[in-house]
Amino acid sequence: MAEASRTQLRIAIPCLLLWLLAVTTDRGAAQSSPPRVITRASAHDVRPVRARARATPRVVPLADRIPHVPGGAPIVITPVLFVPSDLTYDRAAEADAAVRAHVRIAQEHYRRLLGTSFAASAATLPIVQGARTAAEYEADSAWRSHWITRELFAWARTDRYRSHHLFVVLYVSATAIDGGGIPFNGTLGTGGGYVELDARALFGDEPYPFQSSLVHEIGHALGLDHVACRGESMDASPSLMSYDPSHHSAGLSPSADPGTFLPIEIAALALSRRALPNLRAPWTPTSEADLAQAEACLLPAMSDAIGPFRAMPGVGLEMFYGARHVSGEDASLYSRAQAIQTCRQSRTMYPRTRVRCLYNGEPLSF
Ligand SMILES: [Zn+2]
Repeated sequence: MAEASRTQLRIAIPCLLLWLLAVTTDRGAAQSSPPRVITRASAHDVRPVRARARATPRVVPLADRIPHVPGGAPIVITPVLFVPSDLTYDRAAEADAAVRAHVRIAQEHYRRLLGTSFAASAATLPIVQGARTAAEYEADSAWRSHWITRELFAWARTDRYRSHHLFVVLYVSATAIDGGGIPFNGTLGTGGGYVELDARALFGDEPYPFQSSLVHEIGHALGLDHVACRGESMDASPSLMSYDPSHHSAGLSPSADPGTFLPIEIAALALSRRALPNLRAPWTPTSEADLAQAEACLLPAMSDAIGPFRAMPGVGLEMFYGARHVSGEDASLYSRAQAIQTCRQSRTMYPRTRVRCLYNGEPLSF
């Protein structure tokens, strides 16, 4: 689980000084969790292999390549000052004013690019004291994100499915941390997501420029991967989802070239109905190549380290060996590509078993 979970927090290191470290600390290569290991089918389920009729595969629109999770309350960007158990913080009032200004600028940035923007909490910046020490949180970025997410769910009396928060964690560090962002449940418009930034970056843009990092990490928390997922350059790209240093801000001043969203990224963002309910993408992919690429560049759901998955009949992947339902609750959050990979693997592993797969309640053809 640790290896899978380590791939999940997408980390930006916009600071030029730390850029070279991105090779080792930015774990942006993996696209999806490994398929669930399926227990061996019982003898009862074994059926003779039958030839399957091959129909011409239909082009599946992007909205049908993600799970049809029921809706919920609109997502709100919720900044939180998070202080490890062994540290204190005495700049809360300044931090509240600074993050408020930064979130407003980020909102306007998104509005310019999308014609609409996300909602943000108007509450005074809450201070949450962590259960662990700075040394514990800072030993591993993946576990830090899992622990803090769980603690914030408890603080907000919510969970990965009921949450309407996209937390922007201003982490009070002993040793500077990288920024990162991830949606709780993939690009589904469910549950919100998690952004973490070092609180010290609010004042002085160290270890990275706060404003441009914030808009980048919110992009991750809404479900977007880096442009590298399509083989594009991370160093020179118009997209916010790159590390192009020309996008870097200075204090509250955005760069003269603050970065944009590419049409394929806007098409993906439009799937986040709870975070960006008014976004209508001016272009959506229609070719199989573009659709597959858009799907592959969506970040997957976080693991059960942030809380258990829930069974959702008719949502995402449901796999059967004969009449027996064998897929776990996490399969409800699989993308269509993950579902096909899992289903194909099962058919290969158990050629004499009748493996039946549904995606969003429909037979999965591939
Ligand atoms: Zn990033």
